[in-house]
Amino acid sequence: MKNTKDIPLTIKETQEGLLKKKFSAMELVDAYLGKIDEEKDLNAYITICDDEAYKKAGEVDKLIANNSLDFSENFPLLGATIGHKDLFLTKGIRTTAASKVLNGYVPAYSATAVARMEKAGGIILGKTNCDAWAHGASGENSDFGPTKNPWNKKFVPGGSSSGSAVSVAAGLSLIATGTDTGGSIRQPANFCGVVGLKPTYGAVSRYGIIAMASSLDSVGNFGKSVADVETVFNVTKGEDGRDSTVKNAEFIKPKGKIKIGIPKEYFVEGVDKEVAESVIKVSKVFEKAGIELREISLPHTKYAISVYYIVQPAEVSSNLGRYDGIRYGNPRADFGAEAKRRIMLGTYVLSAGYYDAFYLKAQKVRSKLIGDFEAAFETVDAILAPVSPTPAFKLGEKASDPLKMYLADIFTAPANLAGIPGLSIPSGFNEGGLPLGFQLLGPRFSEPVLFELGKLYEKETDYKAILPNL
Ligand code: GLN
Repeated sequence: MKNTKDIPLTIKETQEGLLKKKFSAMELVDAYLGKIDEEKDLNAYITICDDEAYKKAGEVDKLIANNSLDFSENFPLLGATIGHKDLFLTKGIRTTAASKVLNGYVPAYSATAVARMEKAGGIILGKTNCDAWAHGASGENSDFGPTKNPWNKKFVPGGSSSGSAVSVAAGLSLIATGTDTGGSIRQPANFCGVVGLKPTYGAVSRYGIIAMASSLDSVGNFGKSVADVETVFNVTKGEDGRDSTVKNAEFIKPKGKIKIGIPKEYFVEGVDKEVAESVIKVSKVFEKAGIELREISLPHTKYAISVYYIVQPAEVSSNLGRYDGIRYGNPRADFGAEAKRRIMLGTYVLSAGYYDAFYLKAQKVRSKLIGDFEAAFETVDAILAPVSPTPAFKLGEKASDPLKMYLADIFTAPANLAGIPGLSIPSGFNEGGLPLGFQLLGPRFSEPVLFELGKLYEKETDYKAILPNL
């Protein structure tokens, strides 16, 4: 591969190229590692795994030479290069959660998602940068420095799975993994112009994923197209016997005339005009394709941030308790400001005397938010909404004001509180040349419906959703 512009954009193109011997997996890995090096200032990766990448590429080339492959069944990810968020445990490869506390930590086992993607023929390239412990919406909370938005390096890429979204957008890996606890896959996908899936809570195992907030964490992925994200989801989903919340559920399949709801509470003051208008434009595309649109109401949306920022820090304070600096990792003094803030907030809302007023109350309002979605899904199959109230913002713009930063989660946190899936899809650019996009939400285990709608949108717009590598 002579030019990094020749790097394929989808899993299908990659596999066709490999099969037709247009390039070998070794050459592919060479090209990606070269590109990662060229784009070092994006700061998308914390650790690069050249050795593992070349070893796996050698295996892939051997499999192809033996000519006995059934790509779709046995090796759906054959030759697909991967950046794993540095929250995913990778056996023998340093895993830091982007925090100094785990700087130098080398796990003894791999996360289920990592192991399944490797078995499916994927090639790991490295571990991507993120907000430390996945706390953040901009990527600026990393102890390894912020990741930059590849469309304009003065802007944030969104967080917390910042490096993974940037990696896919800039062509530093074909696909990437992420976690979404309050929006951390959908937001960076939205700011970087790639597709991102937050699966149903309990669809993909959290085994081997460094926990942020256990009742909200969801393990998903990024790609340049809906089909690629679907392929990775199909590889990673399902029981592994190691996460009791995961079940091999019956998925909801698209049937009959699909109805999409547009929640009026997502088009209120404070939402950027270009963001709102672009989502409305997307709705027209669906309408033209024969989808029925309906206005719906999710009346408790205004409480989502308050509820999320009580429940989530409560769970964070408990999960981060295990990093005591004794068995592994560095002392607790190495926690950054944001982790300390969440530990304090969480401990406070769980303490005697405050538990009823804050934590218990928040859980009750959480039930109301769940009720909103349940009522909506009685009348519509999916919901169309903005992902973030604004396009990507400038590096440093919100970093010193946590409250402002927390508000960026207003339209993503509800899906985590309700455990429902969300698919973030790019829809173009604003006047400043930054990506715009939308999300589709559905009832639990309705991923197939979201994929169908997403692919319909790509087809109808002939969208360069499969945007070129930057
Ligand atoms: N921005 C949210 C937060 O800071 C979401 C983080 C996430 O999804 N991991 O908590």
